[in-house]
Amino acid sequence: MVLTSIINLSYLLGALAFVVGLRRLSSPDTARRGNLLAALGMSIAIIASMIYPFSNADNNYIWIGGGLIAGTLIGLVAARRVQMTDMPQMVSIFNGLGGACAVVLAMIELVQFYGGVAKSTQELVVIVLALLIGAVAFTGSILAYLKLDGKVSDSQVTLPSHSLINNLLLIITLGLSIYLCVTGGSLFIALLLMAIALIYGFSFVAPIGGADMPVVISLLNSFTGLSAAAAGLIYNNNIMLIGGILVGASGTILTVLMCQAMNRSLFNVLIGGFGGNAATSKAQLGEQVAREVVPNDAAIQLFYSQSVMIVPGYGLAVAQAQKITKELDDLLETNGVSVQYAIHPVAGRMPGHMNVLLAEADVPYPKLLDLDDANDALPNTDVVIVVGANDVVNPAALDDPGSPVYGMPVLNVWEAKNVIVLKRSMNPGYAGIENQLFFHPRTKMLFGDAKASIQKLVSEVKGLR
Ligand code: NDP
Repeated sequence: MVLTSIINLSYLLGALAFVVGLRRLSSPDTARRGNLLAALGMSIAIIASMIYPFSNADNNYIWIGGGLIAGTLIGLVAARRVQMTDMPQMVSIFNGLGGACAVVLAMIELVQFYGGVAKSTQELVVIVLALLIGAVAFTGSILAYLKLDGKVSDSQVTLPSHSLINNLLLIITLGLSIYLCVTGGSLFIALLLMAIALIYGFSFVAPIGGADMPVVISLLNSFTGLSAAAAGLIYNNNIMLIGGILVGASGTILTVLMCQAMNRSLFNVLIGGFGGNAATSKAQLGEQVAREVVPNDAAIQLFYSQSVMIVPGYGLAVAQAQKITKELDDLLETNGVSVQYAIHPVAGRMPGHMNVLLAEADVPYPKLLDLDDANDALPNTDVVIVVGANDVVNPAALDDPGSPVYGMPVLNVWEAKNVIVLKRSMNPGYAGIENQLFFHPRTKMLFGDAKASIQKLVSEVKGLR
């Protein structure tokens, strides 16, 4: 009785820590502490769940302890080694493993059921839900990881009439699930359902690519949350249920927000087929020639301007140019130039990527403008510096109905008086498409690694003081 109260109280504390931690993740200033608080909540939840088997003779502590040690070690090494730019891959793998856990739990329950342990229809429904959602989250996330890591390309895994195949797989999966819940089915049917759901997860992600990947990752994240919630119901474990629902809900909200940021419906994203038009990688396109600028001229332009807007993109993360960018910002500010940052919601390779990098470099949060505020400010901006961004500043999103990014809100940097683009070549960005911004009359290209280029700008600006 006392033990049960302690466990329930711990669960309540854990749940509170999850909610407050999640709330704190919404601002870079509080995110680090929010993350630690949520981790504390998870530790409380794990310890409280470990108290359960105390009363049980066959309590499996060896297995649980072994799993905990192995999981902690793998998590520690992975978190320490992973580069910021590879974070989405890690999120995908962790997502997938969460889904795999739900599949294993559901299969154990089903094996027990076919071995004679009675289950009500409601229990069967929850078990089948955990199996289904977990299986789709597992193989879908693994394929998302392989795609993000460049190990697999869209064309290698997409078949002709792929959406037809997906629809068929979905119908079979749902049909088998209903059959199993209504009749109880058999171990063979359960295994068949698991196999087809695993195939469906893979096939569901196969045709989705390019700039739609972040949406899919967050959708799969919400699936993993829902499968964990279903597992919480199976074991009547409140903290698992609450944690799962929180992940499911936040993943769903993020999915919706990202669809809005790209001005696409979720259905449109899921039927796939993003991007990939062959793009030239030359500084000349037909009659158009991209104009280059040398660091000295760029520095003069920055030094004598009144307002500068920095647009960070994936290249800033690759070059790890956040600290030197902040140095340039400080230098310009001390010379009376107002410096702000324009943050596109899908700049980089994961939601909030740019915010995290800039917070790491101690860029004050009020200097960061969201898409709408930045677009309002751009026509009155003297110089925009685009640091390793490409798709998020592509005018084709507004004026080329044939472009895969058409309709996606972008930063209208060409409306500023001058644009300096820092990148290494004329190569396309993630969506693999040409960018007319580079040929715009107000644009000049400063070629080179972003960190090295900004370092040069810093030296040149110092020389002008
Ligand atoms: P992009 O991928 O469009 O462009 C990045 C640019 O950075 C490239 O053109 C590259 O050009 C340049 N670059 C790479 N390395 C360096 C370097 N060391 N120094 C200087 N430049 C460099 O990035 P954006 O941020 O503009 O757009 C993000 C894209 O990624 C969007 O399509 C988005 O939808 C997608 N995406 C976003 C996710 C998210 O959640 N934020 C997740 C997954 C995808 P070059 O090679 O010539 O240097």
